[in-house]
Amino acid sequence: MVLEINKELSSELSSFLGSENVSSEKFILISYSEDASPFEGNLPQIVVRPETTEHISKIMKIATEKQIPVVPVGGRSSISGSTIPRVDNALMIDITKMTKILELNEDIMTVTVQTGITWSELIHLLKEKGYKLGFRGPYGGNAGTVGGSLSANSIGCGASANGGACDNVIGLEVVLPNGEIIKTGSNWKNKEPIMRENFARYCTFNDLTGLFLGDHGTLGIKTAATLKIFPVPKGVAYADFGFSNLEQATKAFHEIQSNHLVEEAVMLGDTNSIDLLASSYRSTFKNLDCILAVIIEEVDEEIAKIKREYCEKIVRKYGGKSIGMFLSKAHWLNMFNLVQSLFEEGFWYNTCHIRPISTLPILVEKFHALANKYQLKENGFNWIISALGVDHCFTSGWITIFLGDKNKKDLVYKAWEELREIEMELGGVPYWTGKLWEPYALDRVNPSFIGLLKKLKKALDPKNLLHPMVFEL
Ligand SMILES: Cc1cc2nc3c(=O)[nH]c(=O)nc-3n(C[C@H](O)[C@H](O)[C@H](O)COP(=O)(O)OP(=O)(O)OC[C@H]3O[C@@H](n4cnc5c(N)ncnc54)[C@H](O)[C@@H]3O)c2cc1C
Repeated sequence: MVLEINKELSSELSSFLGSENVSSEKFILISYSEDASPFEGNLPQIVVRPETTEHISKIMKIATEKQIPVVPVGGRSSISGSTIPRVDNALMIDITKMTKILELNEDIMTVTVQTGITWSELIHLLKEKGYKLGFRGPYGGNAGTVGGSLSANSIGCGASANGGACDNVIGLEVVLPNGEIIKTGSNWKNKEPIMRENFARYCTFNDLTGLFLGDHGTLGIKTAATLKIFPVPKGVAYADFGFSNLEQATKAFHEIQSNHLVEEAVMLGDTNSIDLLASSYRSTFKNLDCILAVIIEEVDEEIAKIKREYCEKIVRKYGGKSIGMFLSKAHWLNMFNLVQSLFEEGFWYNTCHIRPISTLPILVEKFHALANKYQLKENGFNWIISALGVDHCFTSGWITIFLGDKNKKDLVYKAWEELREIEMELGGVPYWTGKLWEPYALDRVNPSFIGLLKKLKKALDPKNLLHPMVFEL
């Protein structure tokens, strides 16, 4: 029976998408039931690769009529299990063929893109024209798409000065679960040409853009996004600062971040983490416990240099010193290629989340106690502790345990679960949620908040077809 429905569905979708963009091959379905996390998903029945917003609208109308669950996906680089279907027989919409730059507007300094474009492609295309993005993508930006990041609240490159992916959006084009197409921000006017009107996010009515940002694909499918752009900087400065005391380093980090001095500030939070990414520093400098690396981008060299000196002044006040620029340079210039090498340590059991900068020392202390309890090192598991400055003044903490010995998976699993409890208890909040964080978030959520979210979901998607069961919706 399922097979018959599938055949019918497949030929209906192929009629406008082309048969090469519709697949029910078993190996394709299996691969789409997974993402880059350790979680497993349910098997979809069909995968499609549309090229236009109208295609997606048509697909959603068909899915609504036939009551088929739909899961939108981008690069499937989620490491939180947000991409994988939670129910059987879903129709998966892969948006990675939607990669066009729709408009580069040098007047209002925005770029409007189809949301299937990857961050790395967009960055390179913009650089050729003399522009950069504010937020430049998660560190998985070789595969991660703009649409995936805006759906999953990504944080990453350029976040210290510009905030996360969602902070850099002016407006969206979204296909609603019933197939209707809407535009948000100053694009609400009912006239053509559409893109020219897209210069402000907050105007006239409520901010409907925010309704869809971070929805993990549950309220609508983002088909286009307008993002802020800036001129490519003429002055860049790098600096690595070493500390023998994490408390003091955290104070310097806070002062640099709260004064908005740098494009990116990133900390390696213990000796183990330094050994993974900048080991030579530890043989050169004694008592090096953590490193704060900063990258400054400015309109000219002189301003960048002055800001660098100012950062150094702050660092000295807290007992740190300048140790070079290897880490900051490697971090910035390798960008999306930097962290991939860490897969050599084993599969990632990550716990990325956001928190106040001041809570880093207690988190690191508790993690070290946990590592001791589970004898992580002795059992062959490595880890990294890193923290990135975000937005106005908080941090994205990244403690990842690497699965060195696959036979001891149960042990890592226990430590990983306990670590997430600790992180939530110590003031942490997840950004991309997925299966990784949902149980921890839903256990603690205010009933009125989740109640409203459920009402909104019901209003937009009464048959609960779009990515069902995410956030238990
Ligand atoms: C090596 C590596 C490093 C990483 N580093 C970071 C990092 O620094 N910061 C970070 O935040 N993440 C990081 N990630 C995770 C991942 O790269 C990001 O979350 C990325 O934004 C996901 O984009 P994607 O296109 O792969 O989305 P997917 O994984 O395909 O989807 C993510 C979520 O968005 C939904 N979705 C996707 N596209 C749409 C759309 N157009 N409309 C509506 N819903 C949609 C999906 O249903 C899913 O819920 C990393 C991953 C890897 C493998």
